[in-house]
Amino acid sequence: MSAGDFHFDTLLVHAGEPRPRPEGAITQPIYQSSTYTYAGHGDYDSLRYLRLSNSPNHTCLAEKIAALEAAPAALVTASGMGAISTALLSLVGEGEHLISQDILYGGTYHFLHQYFPKLGRKVSFCGMHDLEALEKQIRPETKGIYIESISNPLLQIPDLDGIIQIAKRKGLLTFIDNTFASPFNFQPIPYGFDVVLHSATKYLNGHSDVSAGAIAGSEAHVGQAIRFQNTLGGILDPNSCFLLNRGLKTLGVRMRAHNQNAQGLAETLAEHRKVEKVYYPGLPSHPDHARGKKLFRGFGGVLSFEFRGTPADADEFLGRLRLPSLAPSLGGVETLITRPVTTSHSILPLSERERLGIRENLVRVACGIEDTDDLRADFLQALG
Ligand SMILES: *Cc1c(COP(=O)(O)O)cnc(C)c1O
Repeated sequence: MSAGDFHFDTLLVHAGEPRPRPEGAITQPIYQSSTYTYAGHGDYDSLRYLRLSNSPNHTCLAEKIAALEAAPAALVTASGMGAISTALLSLVGEGEHLISQDILYGGTYHFLHQYFPKLGRKVSFCGMHDLEALEKQIRPETKGIYIESISNPLLQIPDLDGIIQIAKRKGLLTFIDNTFASPFNFQPIPYGFDVVLHSATKYLNGHSDVSAGAIAGSEAHVGQAIRFQNTLGGILDPNSCFLLNRGLKTLGVRMRAHNQNAQGLAETLAEHRKVEKVYYPGLPSHPDHARGKKLFRGFGGVLSFEFRGTPADADEFLGRLRLPSLAPSLGGVETLITRPVTTSHSILPLSERERLGIRENLVRVACGIEDTDDLRADFLQALG
């Protein structure tokens, strides 16, 4: 099926799936087989073997995710960090340098700080709103730029236009973690990015029951990542492939609900006297609102706000909520809530948190797909 012929919601249901499916099945079955009969293949990488991510469950997902990201190729991995580490290590070589956004998902930050230099790569960090500073960091050995389409927990959208222009002018590879936007809200490849990364654990799967990741990009870039993963061995198992494929089919209907819930809740919170400040790019008060409005179809399900009161008051408020669970992560159908300085950003030193503007009374909400009015009412009763 050619991706160009159909809209996003149709691709979610049908892209990558063989027709007819075996035995007349309507859903893609789980192929619980570690190896496949030899068909005169020429080389090792074209053998059919589970670790090579080329089982029918893998190829179906790779084609589907490529179609959703409007990319020539894709690969699924065992986690988002599997996708990020595999892509960066296979495409940034020893001695080469990466310029990374300074505010990053904690695991990525840790990987780039602790392991990337040990593995012979160089990295420097930069705010992605100041492009002059970014350009100054480019060295002869700079290979690429790494950013997130929407950052956590302040929901900043980098200057995507400016970054693409610099990268094209300087011949740099661009990496973008598109987890928070999802391809429903933003497709980076047609926009000019080279490599898209996902924690499929979040919106792509959508049900908080699978760990998975994805890499999308050109045949050449994804091919390099596949060959690297073939030897590292951290593949997605067929059961998780099946669940991810099932979850993906409803990405469109879920993202509409996530977008609507976060927008509705952000607007309600912005007017409440117990709330100092709301961070959601869907609000005109957010510094990146205009950019998001131009480039994105929606702003995603995550928002943050500063609670007016002490951290202990904020924790009491969290305890009074009936619907959200106190848990890290995002992208599932159920609403989750955290105070980032006690969870996702606890490893950052205080000075670094202050520099990035992550305050103690900051609360992050990852909206699920519950009824918007029920969520609103629950927050209003808990705020009191
Ligand atoms: C969760 C997350 C990751 C890591 O994904 P895992 O599936 O937990 O390995 C990477 N980037 C972002 C933006 C995330 O939210």
